[in-house]
Amino acid sequence: MSLPTELVHADDKDNRVSDIVSPINVATTFRYDESDLIPWSEREDFSFMEKKPIYSRLAHPNSTRVESILSSILKGEAVIYSSGLAAYFAMLTHYNPKRLFIGQGYHGCRSIADIYTRNWSLEQHPLEIDEILKHAEKGDVVHIESPVNPYGTSSDIKSFADAAHSKGALLVIDSTFAPPPLQDAWEFGVDVILHSATKYFGGHSDLLAGVLAVKDKQVASQLRSDRIYLGTNVANLEAFLLLRSLRTFDMRIKTQSENATKLVTYLAEHISDYPDVIDEIFHSSLQTETFVKVQLKGGYGPVFAITLKSKDQCKKFPQLLEYFQHATSLGGVESLVEWRALTDPYIKQTLIRVSVGVESINDSIKDFTNALQILQEEAKN
Ligand SMILES: *Cc1c(COP(=O)(O)O)cnc(C)c1O
Repeated sequence: MSLPTELVHADDKDNRVSDIVSPINVATTFRYDESDLIPWSEREDFSFMEKKPIYSRLAHPNSTRVESILSSILKGEAVIYSSGLAAYFAMLTHYNPKRLFIGQGYHGCRSIADIYTRNWSLEQHPLEIDEILKHAEKGDVVHIESPVNPYGTSSDIKSFADAAHSKGALLVIDSTFAPPPLQDAWEFGVDVILHSATKYFGGHSDLLAGVLAVKDKQVASQLRSDRIYLGTNVANLEAFLLLRSLRTFDMRIKTQSENATKLVTYLAEHISDYPDVIDEIFHSSLQTETFVKVQLKGGYGPVFAITLKSKDQCKKFPQLLEYFQHATSLGGVESLVEWRALTDPYIKQTLIRVSVGVESINDSIKDFTNALQILQEEAKN
């Protein structure tokens, strides 16, 4: 099966009723099968819950379906969570490293690491090859995000994988900004792939979910078992919404990737028209290193960033746009911009993050040029 078919059919094996669209299940508990009463202590593996759900914190029909599809498209064992950060927390809890190498990226992941540092003295190190080679030990975790929030630029995944593995450490990648078919991080030696499914897999700004993908079945089984007690399985209604979203994911991500690349290309070509407004533009499509195109073999990510000349311009710019709405988050069909300082405590104060949606790219370019022209004229006067 190829990706578009997997999105529609990888969960056919989980059909329970004849409905074409899987029903919303709001049940938290399910009747036992009286012909199959086996005590929990005598169970060797818990995958039976996929066919015979017990209690929705363990698994429920649509969480099982979502895992079937995500396992198929992420080419591994996918474990679904109630949010991207719940997935990150589960990853840290499972591997329980003494040291974590972490750099620029989604600020929430760093805040979880801070909880670990506060409670269990997790050592945090900068995400640098030299630092890994000098300090990493067996069982440590190196965490990279590529393309990285909020810039949308890429780093060389394989160089981090090689450095981590040379010390017996693991490489975890947050690949939220480039889901398949844009990037397949397994090709570059990662051990765990994380996605905030709230973003592109969800795609409609109406659900929270996260996923970890691993190659090792035993690790997946341990993660699923821990998830029961962490209480972080995806919720019933969210799983239904995510299932609906996944059906059209391939079309959405391709359109969003193409649109973002066109908008960035346009801005880079016209940057000299706005000398008093745009400072810099950041996106993988503007990087010249050879690994970038190799990693993003299916297209560039739909998020990029621009820095403006002043904070004041950052406040005005979103108000001047007609179609791009001023809100946090990304990945939805609606284009968004965000003055990132509003939610990210660590970021440059003049940065605007742009999440490109599925609107006509010509309208989006016009929207941007109009707002930039107004700011340019203001700045000249
Ligand atoms: C949004 C996001 C997260 C966190 O995901 P939630 O689903 O909001 O918990 C993690 N990493 C990246 C790159 C994100 O964009």
